[in-house]
Amino acid sequence: MRIRDLLSNQQTPVFSFEFFPPKTAAGEEALFATIEQLRPLRPSFVSVTYGAGGSTREKTVELVTRIKHDLGLEAMAHLTCVGSSRAQLRSILERLQASGIENVLALRGDPPRDQPRFEPPPDGFRYARELVQFIRSESFDFCLGGACYPEGHIEAPDLETDLDHLSEKVAAGVDFLISQLFFDNEFFYSFVSRARRRGITVPIIPGIMPVTNLSQIERFTQMCGATIPAPLHHRLRAADGDPNAVRQVGIEHALQQCRGLLQHGAPGIHFYTLNQSPATRAILAQLLEEEPWRSS
Ligand code: FAD
Repeated sequence: MRIRDLLSNQQTPVFSFEFFPPKTAAGEEALFATIEQLRPLRPSFVSVTYGAGGSTREKTVELVTRIKHDLGLEAMAHLTCVGSSRAQLRSILERLQASGIENVLALRGDPPRDQPRFEPPPDGFRYARELVQFIRSESFDFCLGGACYPEGHIEAPDLETDLDHLSEKVAAGVDFLISQLFFDNEFFYSFVSRARRRGITVPIIPGIMPVTNLSQIERFTQMCGATIPAPLHHRLRAADGDPNAVRQVGIEHALQQCRGLLQHGAPGIHFYTLNQSPATRAILAQLLEEEPWRSS
């Protein structure tokens, strides 16, 4: 099913889980065990990332196909422009289509670590907008998602310029947006208001990452330009060294964020799971019990 249809027919919020392709067979087995543990929560869809530098393209196609056909869960493939020519992108899209995949998250991707600026490959694309235009101009019929950044994309000179580019990307044919992780809902609310004022009308799903490891989240936020609010940072530092305590702080904070977002009418929550189930399971199980969207 297309995610835009899930979003327009929704009685309850659209909950989704993001996974990354493991590097080893044991990691892949562990991933499917994680998905099995999360399955009873009946996610609306799950997504599989595309490795940095386009490194996991085969695995991404293989995993979404397996998730959709063997597990019966709706699946979305991430696809990046990095390192791929148009012919290579076309071939991946053809394989996804032939495998019955209906949803693609169209991304630019990050430059490789040793390359400070993004350089488009020969005969490839510089921006996600161009990938969206390409997919729409070929005979593909995917439902397309795009990425957005409540605190601004790290390379953008300012929030307004970033929003100009987002607006162009959506106009090229994006059906819905998923946000970068954030830890202060005010960034998301303000971003959605500014996006709506710009005429961006597609659903915007907030992306939430429950913190389970302090140094990991410090590294991620530095890379993507998201802010860890001082009180949360303080609680995490106080718990550091005790993995259970850190996880508990992360769960409590993410749960609080999700409650607020759903009460404010967010169309769903996209969980960055990092291929782990316990934190996401605890949060979503609690939300399904409380149904905070009913009090909005
Ligand atoms: P774009 O929308 O192309 O934007 C990139 C930058 O270019 C922005 O600063 C934008 O303002 C600027 N820009 C856009 N158009 C123009 C223009 N016309 N002129 C000048 N500047 C312009 N990365 C992966 O490698 N694999 C994944 O699977 C993956 N999944 C992700 C999932 C989500 C939900 C999110 C939020 C991010 C994900 N990323 C992934 C990271 C993403 O690839 C990076 O953040 C990347 O740096 C930007 O990708 P984009 O699609 O947002 O790019």
